[in-house]
Amino acid sequence: MFDTKKKSKYAVIKWAMSTQRVFRTHIPSPTNYTMKCVETGCPGKVHGHVPKYHIHWVVTDVFPHNYVRKNLLVNHPNLTSTLIAQLMYT
Ligand SMILES: [Zn+2]
Repeated sequence: MFDTKKKSKYAVIKWAMSTQRVFRTHIPSPTNYTMKCVETGCPGKVHGHVPKYHIHWVVTDVFPHNYVRKNLLVNHPNLTSTLIAQLMYT
C-alpha cells in the first residue's frame, strides 16, 4: 500500500529495474494506472488504483513476463532524475 500514486509507480519502476524490464504507463488517470512491458507480445503488466472507500494506492494485478532477458540493459528508460532524487531523499 502506498499513500500516493507517485510512490506506487516508483515501487513498480524499482521492481522493473531490479528485474531488467522496462514499463510504460498506459491508461493514466487520477485514480488508477496500468504499466505495461514494452517488449512486443509480452503480457507483463501491473495495475494500481485506490479502492473504493480507501485512501491508499494498492497494486492489484501483476501479470508476469513471458520471456527471459538474454542481455543486461545498459541504460534503463524508467530511471529518471526525479526517481533518483526521490530514492536519495527517502
Ligand atoms: Zn515483459
